[in-house]
Amino acid sequence: MTTVLVLGGAGYIGSHMVDRLITKGYDVVVVDNLVTGHRKAINAKARFYEGDLRDKDFMRGVFKKEDKIEAVFHFAAFSIVPESMKKPLKYFDNNTYGMIALLEVMNEFNIKKIIFSSTAATYGNPEHVPIKETDPQNPINPYGASKLMMEKIMHWSDEAYGIKFVALRYFNVAGAKPDGSIGEDHHPETHLVPIILQVASGKRDKLYIFGDDYNTPDGTNVRDYVHPFDLADAHILALDYLNAGNPSDAFNLGSSTGFSNEEMLEAARDVTGKPIPAEVGPRRGGDPDTLIAASDKARKVLGWQPKFDDVHEMIKTAWNWTVKHPNGYDDRNDQDANH
Ligand code: UDP
Repeated sequence: MTTVLVLGGAGYIGSHMVDRLITKGYDVVVVDNLVTGHRKAINAKARFYEGDLRDKDFMRGVFKKEDKIEAVFHFAAFSIVPESMKKPLKYFDNNTYGMIALLEVMNEFNIKKIIFSSTAATYGNPEHVPIKETDPQNPINPYGASKLMMEKIMHWSDEAYGIKFVALRYFNVAGAKPDGSIGEDHHPETHLVPIILQVASGKRDKLYIFGDDYNTPDGTNVRDYVHPFDLADAHILALDYLNAGNPSDAFNLGSSTGFSNEEMLEAARDVTGKPIPAEVGPRRGGDPDTLIAASDKARKVLGWQPKFDDVHEMIKTAWNWTVKHPNGYDDRNDQDANH
């Protein structure tokens, strides 16, 4: 049995990763500081250590105790674009410094494989779509900049210490485990799909669409959505790729199809059968017009085949989670009102 460490395994995407790994027979260790994650999101078959990856002594303790860990899946980063515009240092500390501390300890313990959650935000405002992995990376927000630095740090750590990496550049993520047992629960919630579904379920009055004067067909931002299970499967394929002796590399994970914010709203109205009131508000800082992935490299090289290729299906799984868990994991005070 292969033992792996999932950093950020209590978070939205990390918890789906843990679930998928366990289903596929891996032995899973989870580290999470529970700042944004939820204890209840962690599959009970994983061994959980609560702590911060920037705390090197804590991480040494985990690697000492769990001496069979062969690879690290890294999901433990802050990821909210507008927050990063206001608090850039928070992002460079947690994300970028976190990567430095992690690689130092991995190197001490001779752990030489890392699969990293990177982001389309490293590309900034693309010159053309779909975006290829070889396109220029010029982030337009601190979140994207923090992750681009993490990619570069991994590159030089590979050169110097032989720590192999796969950087998976996610586009937008939506959906939940189809049985509705785990899903997306952020405090405060800032992402489009869960906010739309909060309006559908009556938890919020209306959706504010952030700008309709972008350079896109209907004026609202266009994004490329992927389901967290498809992301998780790509991570497992990426580990197989490194285990086969292949070199470090980066891959886009997207469906190669774009949906505008208006189209997502319409799709959610279809799926939920609810009217979902919406109003156009001002632009939010740091949003590129359109982000669509060229994902043929992941399909060809890793053999990745996303199973959820229809946003209606993705939204249906997210709606199932929302209906079954109207208060999310219900393990903290609702701070949304304070933000
Ligand atoms: N968005 C919006 N209203 C909201 C939340 C998000 O119009 O209440 C827009 C946002 O401006 C962007 C898209 O939805 O164009 C996706 O944003 P999200 O925060 O979900 O993901 P991101 O692209 O920032 O990772």
